[in-house]
Amino acid sequence: MLKSNAASLQESILSLHGVGPASAGDLRQLGIARIGDLLEHLPVRHEPYAAPIALRAARENEIVTVRGMLTSLATRRSFRRRLTIQEGLLNDGKSTLSVVWFNQPYLAQLAKNQPLVLRGKMQRYRSRLTLVSPEIIKDPDLLAGQEKLMPIYPLAGRLTVRQMRYWIKQALPLLDKRREILPREVIRRHKLLDRSWALAQLHFPTDPDQLAAARKRMTFEELLLLSLFVLRERQTLQSFSAEPITINTTLLQKFVAQLPFTLTKAQRVASWQILQDMAKPRPMNRLLEGDVGSGKTVVAAMALLATARANRQAVLLAPTVVLAQQHAYNLRKLLAPLGIGVSLFAGSFIENGSGQPRTRTQLKAALASGSLKVLVATHGVLRPEITFKNLSLFVVDEQHRFGVKQRQLLKSKVHKNNYLPHLLSMTATPIPRSLALTVYGDLDLSILDEKPLGRPKIQTNIVRENELSQVYTHIQDAVANGGQAFVMYPLIDESETLAAHAVTADFTNLKKQLRGLRVGMLHGRMKDEEKNNVMLNFKSGKLDVLAATPVIEVGIDVPRATAMLIRSADRFGLAQLHQFRGRIGRSERASTCFLCPDAATPATRRRLQLLAESQDGFSLAEADLEMRGPGEIFGTKQHGQVTFKYATVLDSRVLAAAKAEAAHLIAQDPDLKSWPILQKHVLKVGSQLHLE
Ligand code: ADP
Ligand code: MG
Repeated sequence: MLKSNAASLQESILSLHGVGPASAGDLRQLGIARIGDLLEHLPVRHEPYAAPIALRAARENEIVTVRGMLTSLATRRSFRRRLTIQEGLLNDGKSTLSVVWFNQPYLAQLAKNQPLVLRGKMQRYRSRLTLVSPEIIKDPDLLAGQEKLMPIYPLAGRLTVRQMRYWIKQALPLLDKRREILPREVIRRHKLLDRSWALAQLHFPTDPDQLAAARKRMTFEELLLLSLFVLRERQTLQSFSAEPITINTTLLQKFVAQLPFTLTKAQRVASWQILQDMAKPRPMNRLLEGDVGSGKTVVAAMALLATARANRQAVLLAPTVVLAQQHAYNLRKLLAPLGIGVSLFAGSFIENGSGQPRTRTQLKAALASGSLKVLVATHGVLRPEITFKNLSLFVVDEQHRFGVKQRQLLKSKVHKNNYLPHLLSMTATPIPRSLALTVYGDLDLSILDEKPLGRPKIQTNIVRENELSQVYTHIQDAVANGGQAFVMYPLIDESETLAAHAVTADFTNLKKQLRGLRVGMLHGRMKDEEKNNVMLNFKSGKLDVLAATPVIEVGIDVPRATAMLIRSADRFGLAQLHQFRGRIGRSERASTCFLCPDAATPATRRRLQLLAESQDGFSLAEADLEMRGPGEIFGTKQHGQVTFKYATVLDSRVLAAAKAEAAHLIAQDPDLKSWPILQKHVLKVGSQLHLE
């Protein structure tokens, strides 16, 4: 059914029947440009299509699957202009049912008197019980009267699931032409099933067992590629040198002594691990993992301090301008007593060590001369024109891993052949240790598994929309007691389609409900400068309440915030809700979080209830994974996190096998030169894993 004799997976999706420029544009949003990409676009889940029932048994308002032949099919125009209606009669040998489609003139080509399976809703149409706009399924299993698992795909733009199925069906026959990625000996050793078979099953499985077998096959491949990547990455890094930063105990003691709190044991251990790494002539590559509020910033501050005092330069990279500003503000408080200034370079915001505005030229000069020691920055700092005198430490906040490309950029900033700065990544995403060791196997791991003392639990309540007035009263009281509050909304872009409460739409109403309070708004569509003003006003207490989209998800620290309302709470994953909630309860004051779902189904309530009962990000992340099932592992890609296509936390057996195999292959051939296809795919893993 291909338009031309498109014979290759490399060809554009435009060569598929039914894919025009508009659909191709939508597909591109999903990262699909070639036919091969389409086959790697996996269903999020499968929907069981029941075996066809007799026409006579089809009841009103039910979604039914029926089988029969169209005995008539005609197109007519409706009163309304430009609308055509296709009406037909379906017969299953015993009875007849009327069927109707709207605006699908191409159905006229549908052959009459040929067996078909239709699935759709039974509704009254012109007072007659009719199958309305059914999906036409030519699946042989359904035609043969069996039930079938049908794929549900992630979509974009105006794409429909039916189209995706239709296109993927066309592409599947090309699969035999796809070569195996893994070396033949690996396939033999692990008795792996055929790759093309597995991919076909993942789309249109014969039954649940085959689906599971197919997933296992692809999981092994995925984890093997990842393990290989990680092993090679570690090797590469070991070939670099770094400037050792000698540990200065007196300085550290002085720093710790002037803190307004005592460090937790976990913070002390992590700092020690980091400082020891930095004292070596090899580049540190460490991940600091700690739940929200576990106090990662102060740990980073010690590394920055040590570097500055060794007369070298350090950068802390933040994912957003707002976070960069906050870090600069907090780090100044921590480091000023020791005579260390903290400069800022975040978009158009450029400040010197004490927070005074600077020009870009001044900043560049200070970096190049080495007079500027500690810089908080956003990604702009990686641009080639920014050069350092002696950059020796690079800290990346809210990021799991620093990319190969970015590391290349850093290399050019060190000015010494084969030298890299020490690298510290910090993340709040809890990852089960076994997986972390593979996914981040090229990194050393420090974990803050302990919250600072004196933090009361955050009371978490599930509320209905009609109870919101009580929530607003609570917020009024919290503010009256010197607290501040967040009101969280889902992403602004999704608001229209998902009918969610977009922050802008609700803002006027919110201000009315919270009369007398100073309410600010923060969302991703605002300019950096506006965002910054709002954030600073909230932090400094000029605003009482902040209505925000998930821009504030990561890292914002406002210790006085004691209340949070999360609208459309059912639209977020548990791990993400936990991240939001971590924005409050950052002091000794009691804090309350209200979860208000749009749809309070029993399943939603159960899920949110878990959040109400647990404050442990780690167990919440696991629960989230189990409930969401395979596919998404560490949350959404947009935050630069790792997602697996196939693997889940439950695949520890496959993981162990894949890791062992990876070690075996690398021992045999460290560069994987004997397996060029494998080598190519391992490199591809690298570019996918890293933030771009
Ligand atoms: P995160 O790990 O989420 O980045 P932060 O570094 O922002 O956490 O710290 C959260 C808050 O806890 C900050 O206000 C910080 O000053 C405070 N904090 C950090 N360590 C301690 C500690 N040991 N005892 C009390 N408060 C602490
Ligand atoms: Mg943080």
